[in-house]
Amino acid sequence: MSKPIIGITTGRRTERSTHTSRPARIAGIQLEYPQSVERSGGAPILLPRTDDMEVIAAVLGAVDGLLLSGGGDVVSLAYGAEPHPTSKYQDPVRDRMEFEAVRAAMARRLPILGICRGIQSLNVALGGSLVQDIPDEVPGAYQHYTQEQETLLGHTIDIEPGSLLAKVLGTTSTAVNSYHHQAVKDVAAALRVNCRSRDGVIEGVESAAGLPILAVQCHPEISCQDYPLYQKLFDWIVAAAAERSRQDAADGP
Ligand code: MN
Repeated sequence: MSKPIIGITTGRRTERSTHTSRPARIAGIQLEYPQSVERSGGAPILLPRTDDMEVIAAVLGAVDGLLLSGGGDVVSLAYGAEPHPTSKYQDPVRDRMEFEAVRAAMARRLPILGICRGIQSLNVALGGSLVQDIPDEVPGAYQHYTQEQETLLGHTIDIEPGSLLAKVLGTTSTAVNSYHHQAVKDVAAALRVNCRSRDGVIEGVESAAGLPILAVQCHPEISCQDYPLYQKLFDWIVAAAAERSRQDAADGP
């Protein structure tokens, strides 16, 4: 059987070109995302940052699962808020791409895994809002933006017993890595919280209706290299995508 295809959203960055004076604009994502999908038996493809809705529809029609990757801040006006002074790396094109990708994936009942910015873009796509800056807006917050060189599982998350996340990880408490200054605030109606850090910050959400949607604020694509527990999130989306692909084949054209 062929491998399930997982579409991974990507951002853009500007780099100094080695061969012209004009800066090079690069579409891409950290290699750990596709590598983590491959390690779980999936076939990753990258969705280059675009807001051409027909392109997004074509790609989402061809994949078996959607991975919303990490990146900069969602434009705050998308959830009705003026920008906090610490807002950074906003990209309205990427926002529009990911909002449409979520809509298209849900229309096909594809599994969705959101990571870091991915939990935030998922929540905003479905009508939720964000804490724009944890140190400023969450009294007594822990450090959620670490800058270590080695994999550091810096803070605890407590996972809701009976949640999809608890089932996937096989535990109701663990420590995670943390590189974020924003977080889910008002949870979209289609989602429910599945884990929090002990300062109250929302660290994970999933479908409130039992759909295959899972999102976390931590970076399992990095921690899975040293801690196999986190590979289980990629095992989950690849298995759910394989199941979705089998259903499509059974339903026929
Ligand atoms: Mn955190």
